[in-house]
Amino acid sequence: MRFPSSSLRRGLATHATADVVAAAPPKTRHDWMREEIQKIYDSPLLDLVFRASSVHRQHHDPGKIQLCTLMNIKVGGCSEDCSYCSQSSRYQTPTKASRLAELELVLEAARKAKANGSTRFCMGAAWRDLAGRKRGFERILEMVREVRKMDMEVCTTLGMLTPEQAQRLKEAGLTAYNHNLDTSREFYPRVITTRSYDDRLDTIAAVREAGISVCSGGILGLGEADEDRVGLIYEVSNMPEHPESFPVNALVPIPGTPLEGNEPVKHQILLRTIATARIVLPTTIIRLAAGRQTLSESEQAMCFMAGANAVFTGDHMLTTDCSHWDEDKAMMSRWGLEGMESFEQKQVAVKEGTRLQPASTFPESASTLESSNEVLPAPSAARM
Ligand code: SF4
Repeated sequence: MRFPSSSLRRGLATHATADVVAAAPPKTRHDWMREEIQKIYDSPLLDLVFRASSVHRQHHDPGKIQLCTLMNIKVGGCSEDCSYCSQSSRYQTPTKASRLAELELVLEAARKAKANGSTRFCMGAAWRDLAGRKRGFERILEMVREVRKMDMEVCTTLGMLTPEQAQRLKEAGLTAYNHNLDTSREFYPRVITTRSYDDRLDTIAAVREAGISVCSGGILGLGEADEDRVGLIYEVSNMPEHPESFPVNALVPIPGTPLEGNEPVKHQILLRTIATARIVLPTTIIRLAAGRQTLSESEQAMCFMAGANAVFTGDHMLTTDCSHWDEDKAMMSRWGLEGMESFEQKQVAVKEGTRLQPASTFPESASTLESSNEVLPAPSAARM
């Protein structure tokens, strides 16, 4: 017996959603009630995944996954007390502090990432903020300029930012800034005490104001309850613009940190969180981030089915292991998935404006685009 071709198999697999795909996409909302999100999160798991998958197909090509590579450009020695983090100087961990990486080393890593198919390169530095780091900041701006010249999306995570620093990063060509809310407002003080939830929201507002795409999500497995995972999604859903990316991390407990003994997060919790986020944040890219290497291939596929459409791939995460490009490319080929191009997400392309093509070809702002619910080209299954 012959099996159907991969495109036909994908078509058959998505046949049940054809009516939903054809329907007008639901409006992107910024007025979600927490109880509504909780109700979605608590729905029977397969119904939840089906609904999320349907929403996903209305706003994204389900055959595309964004490949991002992360580099830790300044390791450890951080003054903050994030209880999950091996880079905090308050804990005795295996992570050793380093100085800020040299430009050429970073560019070499970015070139390698691009050659392996990554289209976003993210650079992380372990510190509270950029205060007193004038020379270091200049070097980072140079890194941003040079990586952007490679036609990659470039992202940084450098702690808290002032509006002026955000503006300078934008001028250097920064595509996105990562600043996670981590968890709900209520649970947050149990995780970090050295900066507040509102400090984080201020940095996100400065990034947004500078015209940089926002990457902001959370970590599961901190000891939080279902209500906290819902609280995190609620918080980002009520932002004036949804973050362009929502990373979902599964805690990798690090010896020496206060959370070293935490139980690994259950897959069904991860799946519920991704599916709920996909329904509530329909145009956002949902990134399966730290902890992915602990998932089996079929568990990862369920996450993609539920709406995750980005991964970190490469040699390392910031301080933990990462699935390697070769492994990921082989997995994606088995599941009929392919990598996104740079700036394929329209909200991100809009922010890039004339750096990509004449501004007149874009809607006037990202929020206009978001509220118009412009749909990407038909999903590959429907293109057969
Ligand atoms: S998560 Fe970031 S801010 Fe918190 S301790 Fe680690 S490096 Fe510092």
